[in-house]
Amino acid sequence: MGESYQVREHDILIVGAGGAGLRAAIAATERGLSVGIVTKSLLGKAHTVMAEGGIAAAVGNVDPDDSWRQHFIDTMNSGKFLNNWQMVETFTKEAPERVIELEQWGALFNRTPQGRISQRPFGGHTYRRLCHVGDRTGLEMIRTLQEKVLSTGANVYMETTVTKLLKDGGGRVVGALAYTRESGSFVHFKAKAVVMATGGWGRIFKVTSNSWEGTGDGVVLAYDAGAELVDMEMVQFHPTGMVWPPGVRGLLVTEGVRGEGGLLRNSEGERYMERYDPDRMELSTRDVVARANYTEVQEGRGSEHGGVYLDITHLGYEGIMKKLPTMHEQFLKLADIDISREPMEVFPTVHYTMGGIKVDPETCATNVPGLFAAGECAGGLHGANRLGGNSLSDLLVFGRRAGMGAAGYVEENHHGTQIDAGEIGTEIGRVLEPLEKPAGGDDESPYLMQQELQEAMMEHANLMRNEDSLKEGLGKILALKDRLPNVKVGGTRLFNPGWHTAQDIRYLIQISEIILRTALERKERRGAQWRLDYDGPDEELGKINLIVKKDQQGEVGIERREIPPMPEHLSALIEGKVADMAGGEKRGVESQF
Ligand code: FAD
Repeated sequence: MGESYQVREHDILIVGAGGAGLRAAIAATERGLSVGIVTKSLLGKAHTVMAEGGIAAAVGNVDPDDSWRQHFIDTMNSGKFLNNWQMVETFTKEAPERVIELEQWGALFNRTPQGRISQRPFGGHTYRRLCHVGDRTGLEMIRTLQEKVLSTGANVYMETTVTKLLKDGGGRVVGALAYTRESGSFVHFKAKAVVMATGGWGRIFKVTSNSWEGTGDGVVLAYDAGAELVDMEMVQFHPTGMVWPPGVRGLLVTEGVRGEGGLLRNSEGERYMERYDPDRMELSTRDVVARANYTEVQEGRGSEHGGVYLDITHLGYEGIMKKLPTMHEQFLKLADIDISREPMEVFPTVHYTMGGIKVDPETCATNVPGLFAAGECAGGLHGANRLGGNSLSDLLVFGRRAGMGAAGYVEENHHGTQIDAGEIGTEIGRVLEPLEKPAGGDDESPYLMQQELQEAMMEHANLMRNEDSLKEGLGKILALKDRLPNVKVGGTRLFNPGWHTAQDIRYLIQISEIILRTALERKERRGAQWRLDYDGPDEELGKINLIVKKDQQGEVGIERREIPPMPEHLSALIEGKVADMAGGEKRGVESQF
């Protein structure tokens, strides 16, 4: 007899309880639909909780000249025009409303002396634009959304991992299979629509700021179900991760430090950003600052432990405790450094994945009926480089749109959630295989494979890339792919991290292969894709996105897809033809409290 499993049924299943998933759930429940939220970790613990610096939105509270138009220009410039401009327009127009809504739901932002939501400067933003709660913005965002979600009646399934999206005979996504991490028992979720909100995949690299959840499950589950992916070669290295002690290497040092006036210096005491971006200096875009930090170290002007110095001492103890309390605590506890007295040592760390599941800009629908995506696992908004703060507002704007898009789809489609009888049994067998197959001579440890993969990606898909190295990296990843069937773990199904890693390694390998293949295909220097074997950007490649889709043979298919031309009202902005950027709108929003 086959393995038994539970069945749970909802109108909409949301995979992920970060900012995007929770915001989607709120939007979907507002339509009176039944919503289930699945998360690998506990409610309130999704990666979003780690966000620090703030939420970018042209509210215009401290700089009244700010406008959605300027936010549009900044975002497109930073993304090197690979961005989906329709998404960027929607995003920059709607972000202020979403922030105010968050405040109305109870988020306690830092204040201006007039009592408005305070906004801080961040790299690449023309105006002070980041609405923030000290350096704990993600915590406040998750707390607020979580309370709101719990009041809507959505069901939350914690410590439950989805392993497969299920489709009906018509090719529509109609649910998912998952297992509970506590007991290892299986759950068949039936749903007419599924929203992927599973976050990024920084964990394919050895040095990263990302939490353990960032293994890219959602993007591979969607790819396996036939979804298109976009801009997968674009991986963001944040300029400032911790370097010392080794156990905390990669932990984020928020851009809020530079936003509050932090200065970068090399071992010679030089403010070297003068040589890389004299106009914006430390507040240049992340791709530029990351390459500058990397280059200073490569050329022998690094700090004691192989980084550069970031100095915020001029803010003083009180200023730091008001604006950057987490940074103070982080360095004091982990590195025994008081940042109000000494500079920090920092070096680039893998931080964010611009690419992801390709979605419709209005509804967040993918090309697979019944499948939607939002947040870091979706692509298109950020192009070749994300501006700091633009992720949290992305979660709010497109999380809401994904929830509404899925709700609209469910309201219009009245099909059942029937799937092939044998499908669940086959999937359960696949998931259990690493635990249940007999031990053999060629058994592979998922931990060791993960380590090998992370080292290979660090070496070959770093922030500076070239063809020979990318090819060598691809060879290493394909060799790991061949070894995948040999993964074997011991123990039982009960809270077994080895078994969980055996599931993750499949995603890590698949995404790494896609990144290396697309990075080989984009032969130019653009944003996060910095090919040392090419001199600069390529005009023709600047007009296309790389779209990835599983081909008929089950291999990675890559298509060059032309970016549609911008409509006149947007191209006029980019060309500087619009005199009244604020468009006569009133800037600055009175606080509700
Ligand atoms: P996440 O918050 O990553 O949530 C993903 C969810 O999916 C989790 O609940 C996870 O358990 C679940 N999940 C994944 N796979 C499965 C599966 N197979 N089955 C079930 N559930 C699954 N951005 C900003 O804009 N401003 C900032 O100040 C900022 N600071 C940051 C600081 C740090 C340290 C880091 C690492 C990032 C920061 N970012 C910031 C980026 C931002 O936090 C993330 O991009 C964003 O939070 C991602 O949110 P999300 O909802 O897409 O996914």
